[in-house]
Order: sequence, then C-alpha cells, then structure tokens
Amino acid sequence: MTKPTVASDWLCGCAGCHMSLLDIDERILQVVDLVDLRATPITDLKEPDEKGVTVGILEGGINNTYNEEVAKRMRERCKILVALGDCAVFGGVPAMRNFVGVESALQRAYIDAESVDAEGLIPADPELAEMTRVRAVSEVVPVDVFIPGCPPDADTIFYALVELAQGRIPEIKNDKLHWH
Ligand code: SF4
Repeated sequence: MTKPTVASDWLCGCAGCHMSLLDIDERILQVVDLVDLRATPITDLKEPDEKGVTVGILEGGINNTYNEEVAKRMRERCKILVALGDCAVFGGVPAMRNFVGVESALQRAYIDAESVDAEGLIPADPELAEMTRVRAVSEVVPVDVFIPGCPPDADTIFYALVELAQGRIPEIKNDKLHWH
C-alpha cells in the first residue's frame, strides 16, 4: 500500500516547532515507517511535490508576501493542512509587531536600533518580499488541524503524525495541550 506523504515548511517563526518535531527522537523511525516524509526545511527537498502530498505542515505566522506564497502553495498541494505551533495558530510572538505596525518596526530595527550607525537604511529592493501585518495561517488559507504550543510538545506532535498517517484527524485537547 502507498504510504501517505507529508511535507512541511516554515514561515515567520523561530524553527522551534521543527526542533520539537525532532524531539520525538527515535520515534521518527516509526513515523517514516508510516509515511513518506517529503519536502521539509530540514531535508534536501524544500518544496512540496507538485503532484501534491497528503499532509502539509506549516510552522510560523504570515509576516510578508513571500510567506503568503509559501502558505498558498502548501494549501494547494496538500489534502490536510496542519498549523503547527502558536505562531501558525495565532500569530504568536511575531504578531507582537502588529502593536507598532510595519513602518515603526522597520524604523526601529534598521534606523533607530542602538547597534545601527548613521548609515542605517531600511531595505527597499523591489525583489524583497513586502512586509505585512502578521497573521495566523488560517487568516490566509483554510487550516484543517491546529496544534498550539510554543513549541507544541514532542509527544503531541508524534501523536498527531501517527493519527494523520493512519487517515485520522488528530484531536488536540486535554493532555495534548501543553503550554510552554
Ligand atoms: S510557536 Fe514558538 S517555537 Fe514555534 S515557531 Fe513560533 S516562537 Fe518558535
């Protein structure tokens, strides 16, 4: 029987959710027995297969126009989309920037920061993605499974992967909710 395929990608986050996925340790062997692990930021293949995957996993909030592209591409190419971690589920830490707005954040980072000299400059290359308000993934594309936590607990991620591999939608509640 063909295994379900899984791809993941990251948006505006800290990579901690993927690190928590790796914290399932040797149980990764059980996961790769059950699924064909395709593109991820931590493997050679970086983009989900054009022919599509069974499960797509996104870490991070949507912070700019490039994040939007990545989220839409994953949504188009997967049957079940998982928002992994508080940044993907709620906007998380990056969404704190929304309190000051994009312009003020850029001004603070590139002009006013104590470490910036008199030649500070806000990047304005037309090829750069345009920064936006930070949004949860579900504000841009429909999400099927929400796994909150910063990061979600490795045991919860393992549970969710096994459920998804066996064709079930994981129920993330009660002891599966760990707030770090
Ligand atoms: S939810 Fe927490 S661990 Fe995951 S990407 Fe966001 S800040 Fe990092």
